[in-house]
Amino acid sequence: MPNIVSFQQGNAAMKQLLGGKGANLAEMTRAGLPVPPGFTITTEVCRRFYDGGGQLPAGLMEELNQSMRELEAAKQQRFGDPMQPLLVSVRSGSVTSMPGMMDTILNLGLNDETVKGLAVMTGNARFAYDCYRRLIQMFGNVVFDIESHHFELGLRRLKRKLRLEQDSEIPAEGWIELIASYKAVIAKEAGRPFPQSVSEQLELAVAAVFRSWNNHRAQFYRRLHHIPDEQGTAVNIQAMVFGNMGGDCGTGVLFTRNPSTGEDVLYGEYLMNAQGEDVVAGVRTPVPIAKLKAEMPDIYEQLFQTAKALELHYRDMQDIEFTVEQGKLYLLQTRSGKRTAQAAVKIAVEQVKEGLISHGEAILRIEPFHLDQLLHRAIDTDRPLDVLATGLPASPGAATGLAVFDADTAEAWAREGRKVILVRSETTPEDIHGVLAAEGVLTSRGGMTSHAAVVARGMGKPCVCGCDAVGIEGREFSVKLSDGRTVTISEGDQVSIDGASGRVIRGAVSLREPVLTAELSELLAWADEIRTLQVYTNADTPEDAAKARHFGAEGIGLCRTEHMFMQAARVPVVQSMILAETADERAKALQQLLPMQQEDFEGIFRAMDGLPVTIRLLDPPLHEFLPNLEQLVLQQERMSHNPAVEPEQRAKLDSLLRKVRTLHEMNPMLGTRGCRLGLVLPDIYEMQVEAIFRAAVQCKQAGMDVRPDIMIPLVGHANELKRMRELVVRTASEVLGKLNHAADCISYQIGTMIEVPRAAITAGQIAQHADFFSFGTNDLTQMTFGYSRDDAEGKFLTHYVETELLPNNPFQVLDQDGVGQLMEWAVERGKTVKPLLKTGICGEHGGDKPSIFFCHAIGLDYVSCSPYRVPVARIAAAQAQL
Ligand code: ADP
Ligand code: MG
Ligand code: MG
Repeated sequence: MPNIVSFQQGNAAMKQLLGGKGANLAEMTRAGLPVPPGFTITTEVCRRFYDGGGQLPAGLMEELNQSMRELEAAKQQRFGDPMQPLLVSVRSGSVTSMPGMMDTILNLGLNDETVKGLAVMTGNARFAYDCYRRLIQMFGNVVFDIESHHFELGLRRLKRKLRLEQDSEIPAEGWIELIASYKAVIAKEAGRPFPQSVSEQLELAVAAVFRSWNNHRAQFYRRLHHIPDEQGTAVNIQAMVFGNMGGDCGTGVLFTRNPSTGEDVLYGEYLMNAQGEDVVAGVRTPVPIAKLKAEMPDIYEQLFQTAKALELHYRDMQDIEFTVEQGKLYLLQTRSGKRTAQAAVKIAVEQVKEGLISHGEAILRIEPFHLDQLLHRAIDTDRPLDVLATGLPASPGAATGLAVFDADTAEAWAREGRKVILVRSETTPEDIHGVLAAEGVLTSRGGMTSHAAVVARGMGKPCVCGCDAVGIEGREFSVKLSDGRTVTISEGDQVSIDGASGRVIRGAVSLREPVLTAELSELLAWADEIRTLQVYTNADTPEDAAKARHFGAEGIGLCRTEHMFMQAARVPVVQSMILAETADERAKALQQLLPMQQEDFEGIFRAMDGLPVTIRLLDPPLHEFLPNLEQLVLQQERMSHNPAVEPEQRAKLDSLLRKVRTLHEMNPMLGTRGCRLGLVLPDIYEMQVEAIFRAAVQCKQAGMDVRPDIMIPLVGHANELKRMRELVVRTASEVLGKLNHAADCISYQIGTMIEVPRAAITAGQIAQHADFFSFGTNDLTQMTFGYSRDDAEGKFLTHYVETELLPNNPFQVLDQDGVGQLMEWAVERGKTVKPLLKTGICGEHGGDKPSIFFCHAIGLDYVSCSPYRVPVARIAAAQAQL
C-alpha cells in the first residue's frame, strides 16, 4: 500500500485511505477540473504515526521529498528557492468530514529569503508579506500550540497605530513590522525561533496535522457523531493558489443548493482579496455569492456550471471551496454538504423528482435523528416581539434562554438545568461543548458558512450569526435601536433567537410546536411503502394520541394509566383509595375513580379510532401517590410544638404517617408494584379493566372501531400472568355481559410487558397466557445490568461512558449484546409456543435508530416511541429494511 498518492492517481472511491478531502481532490483532478496539483499522505500513515508514539514513520520524509520534487516540476517552482519559491498548503482531511475540527497550514515554504523572492516573482511585496505573516501565525498556532490571541493582539495594535480598519489596507511595511513581532511571540511562547528551513517546516507541519486528529475539539466531535478513533486523518499537500493577491482575487465557499432551506439555488459567500480561512473563520463578514455575478460574471458562470456538474457527478448536494487568483478559478475542495433536516428532506424529495436518486436512496440520505430539527419549535407569532436586531438565519428553530457569553458557562448553567443562549462574537471550534449545551447560538460576526453555523446545523441547534448590530463587551451585549435607544443584555438576562428568520429578541417568547411539511409527508409516505416494522406511539392523553396519529402512529404501544391518577384533581380520591382502612372504604373511592378513568379511555379510543390501543394497568408502587414521608415527619414535629393544633388534626396526620410508613419500601423499584400490586389488591385492576371496557362499549356504540389491548406490567413468572389474565377476562365479560353486548363484538388482547429478565428467559411459559409481548426496555435494561436508573445517570454511568468502559448509555442505545440477547431469545421462545404472538418495544429505545435496526432484525412487529419521534422511527424503520 503506498504511503503517498498523488491527486492524479487517486479517486473518490479511495476515501478510507485518502480521507474525504484527498479522495475528492483526486476525483476532481481526474475529471479535468482546475485543482492545484498536490498529493495525499494516507490515513494508514496516521495510524502508524500514533502506533509509533507520535513519530513520522521511518522513510516517510524521503518519499515526501520525492513527491515534492514532482510538485515542483508541475509548478516550475522550487520549494525553498529564493527566486521561484513553491508554496504549499498542508491540510488535514479525515474519512468522515469533520468541518474545521482539525488543522491546516497555508503558505508553507516562506522564510526570510523566499518571501523576498515571492515579492519579486509576483511584483507584489504587500501580498508576499501578508502570506508570510499568515504562515507564522498558523504555524505558531498549529505546530507550537500558541493561542491565536497572542497574534491577534499584535494585529490589533498595528491597526491602531496605523489608524487603519481593514487588514486589506495594511501596506507591506506594516506586515514586515508585524512579522517581527510574530517571530518574537513564537520565540517567547515556543522557546525556539520560527524555522527558516522549509523542509523542517514541512516535517513539523505534517506531524502537527496528524496530531490534530487528537485535539480536544476533534475528539469531542467524534464522540458526538460516533466516528471511530482509529479512522485517522490523511494529510494533503497542495500547491498554493492565492486569493489575496489583489482586487482580481478572492476566495469563497459555495453550496450547490441552499443548505438551510434546501432551495435549488447556488448558495455561498466569498471575500475579495482574501485567503482561505478568512471566509469560514468569521473574521470579516463575507459577501453573498449572488454578488459575484456582477463582480466577476465569467467566474460566476464557471462556478455555476461546475457546481451543477459536481452535483450530478456525486448525485448529492456539494459544499465547494474555491479561490480566484488573478481572474482564474481554482477548486480546493468538494464534499457532500452538511444541511439542516429541512434542506435534507427538500433536496432528497426534489432529487427523486429530477430522476437523480430513487425513493430508497432519498430515505437513506436522511439522518433520522436529525429530523428532530424539523419537528422544531417556532415563535408563536400572535404576540408582539421586542426585536433587537436581525442577523443571518443560519440554522432553523427558535430558542429562548438566559444569555451567556462563553462556552464553559453555557455548559455549567445547562448542567444546572437552566436553558441558555450562547452569545459570542464568533465561535471557534473550541466552543463546541457550549454549542451543545445551549438552546441556541448567536454570533455577531461570521457568515452562514462560519464554524458556528456549520456546527449548529449539524447538531440541529437554532443559530443566528453575523449579527453585527450586536456589540459584545465582556459579559453583556448592547444594541443601538433605530430610535437611538441602546438596549443592553447582560449575562443571565432572557433573550430569544429565531434561526429561521435571523431575529434576535429581547426577553422570553412563547414557542409553537411544529407540523409536518408537504415534502416530509411525501418522504414519510415512501418510507411507509418500504418498511415492514410498524410504528406505534407511547401516549397517555387524548392530545398526545392525536398528535402522534398526525405524525403517522399506527397505534398506541404504551398508555400509562398512572399519569391519569396523578392529575391534581384526582390525587385526593386516589389517596383516599390508598389510605382506606376497610374494603368498603376502598370500594367507595374506586367507584369515584371509575368514571374518571372511563372518560380518559374514551378520549384516547376516540383519538385512535380504528387503531390498537395498548393500555398498561397501574405500574408504580402506591406510595408514589402519597405525600413524602420525610415531609410528613417534619410536619408532625412542627405540630407537636404548636399547642394551637386541634387534636383531630393531629390524629389525622398521625394516621396518614402510619399508613405512609407501612407502604414505605426500601427498594420500591423492586417492591410491590406492577402485577404484584394487581395480585395483592385486585380491586384496583378490576376497576381499571371495568373502566376500559365501559369506555370501549361507549365508543363502539358511537360507531367507532375500538381495539383495546390490556397489558400487565412487571410479570416475571407465568403464574402471575395466568391469574391476571383470569381477572381481566372475568371483569371484561362481566362488563360486556351486563351491558348486553356479545363479548365478541369488542375483540381485545391480553399481553404483558417483558421487563424482568426472568420473564424473557421463561418467555415460552409466559407466552402460553399472552397474546402479545411488549419489551419494556427501560426496566429490562435496569434489571439486566443491575443499574438503578435514578442513581446511574450523572454518576457512575456517566463515568463509564466518558472513559469508554461502555460504548453508550444503555438507557439511550439498546445494549444488543446483553439486553438485546434476552429480547431475541424471548421472541424466539414466545413464537415457538404461539406463532401469532405479536411483539413490540415500548421503552425509550423505540425512537433510537440503531435500536430500531435491531428490533427490525429480531423480527419485532412494532416499535413504540414518543409522538415527536414517530416520523424519526418511520424513516429509521424504512432504512432498516433497505
Ligand atoms: P478545513 O478542513 O478546516 O476547511 P482546509 O484544508 O480545507 O481546512 O483549508 C482551510 C482553508 O484554506 C480553506 O478555505 C481552503 O480553501 C484554503 N486552502 C487550502 N489549501 C489551499 C491552497 N492550496 N491554496 C489556497 N487556499 C487553500
Ligand atoms: Mg475545507
Ligand atoms: Mg417498567
